[in-house]
Amino acid sequence: MNTLVLAVLVSATSIIVSPPSLANTSPFAIAIHGGAGTIEKSRFTPEQEKAYRAKLKEAVEIGYQVLEQGGESLDAVTAAINVLENSPYFNAGRGAVYTYEGAHELDASIMDGRDRQAGAVAGVKHIENPINLARLVMEQSVHVMLSGQGAEEFAKNHDVPLIENSLFNTENRYKSLLKAKEKLDKAKQTNKDYQAAHSALPVNFKMGTVGAVALDKTGNLAAGTSTGGMTAKRFGRIGDAPIIGAGTFAENESCAVSATGHGEYFIRYSVAADICARVKYQGKTITEAGDEVINGVLKPIGGTGGVIIVDKDGNLSMPFNTSGMYRASKSNTQATYVGIFKGE
Ligand code: ASP
Repeated sequence: MNTLVLAVLVSATSIIVSPPSLANTSPFAIAIHGGAGTIEKSRFTPEQEKAYRAKLKEAVEIGYQVLEQGGESLDAVTAAINVLENSPYFNAGRGAVYTYEGAHELDASIMDGRDRQAGAVAGVKHIENPINLARLVMEQSVHVMLSGQGAEEFAKNHDVPLIENSLFNTENRYKSLLKAKEKLDKAKQTNKDYQAAHSALPVNFKMGTVGAVALDKTGNLAAGTSTGGMTAKRFGRIGDAPIIGAGTFAENESCAVSATGHGEYFIRYSVAADICARVKYQGKTITEAGDEVINGVLKPIGGTGGVIIVDKDGNLSMPFNTSGMYRASKSNTQATYVGIFKGE
């Protein structure tokens, strides 16, 4: 056997044995959020802060494990969001805020970066994990967004159990509703209509949401967002969370984004899609693009909130323009990070 043939055989062998080692070096990453707003250290007891941090860590670790074991980014996103939806701490699922009428209406969406498939549900009242239903819409229907009773009918057809709306009741959220209504009633005396009164409410009465973005070892990006919306919302108000391009966006060529904040601004400024467009068309990094949109575009016009972003190389960015954002991240090159306040 001459040396050339031997060289070819050796390199062919190395090609055959290389996939496992290549897989080890493929980047994978996840980031999660549990809402942005007026979140200040002075409002927490040390025990409360610890409990929030532990829940964020649990969610990011569960998603990370899926990725580490070679699972899909969509599964990592769903698993992480389920942990947050099942916790009363965050405004999604169990901890959903109250509508003006004293009920709960939930919104969620999910997007697959590989083919821009997407699913969303809006204004559902009896779904324990709205992110799972959004995924079902993506995978089992020809539609992108289903709302209200129709979405629940679809859920029934797919054997998703409907639960009592009162199961989302929590004492803290109820107190927030009462405070918000008190402020609304006062504001109404000076502002003629409800819309104006509602915009006079301080941001911390209104928000909170959960979300996750992930890159898996095969290079697929995914993003998902789930929320109870804004406290004292009315008239079937829907925020940005279930709107693809506003609260959620994923595209393998650029990035995956999940947003939290004052939904009306995020809808009007197509926040999630705008960030990825800057990455795609202007060659910006996700840190630059996120900062431009959150601090450059939204902040000057009063659009409060933040986003979590992951790109195709596993870089992570979590900009926000409020005093805090519940957040956590982890990648194959970055240890678990958990943050609540600004500057940590
Ligand atoms: N973006 C959500 C909404 O407007 C609320 C939030 O993220 O705090 O419904």
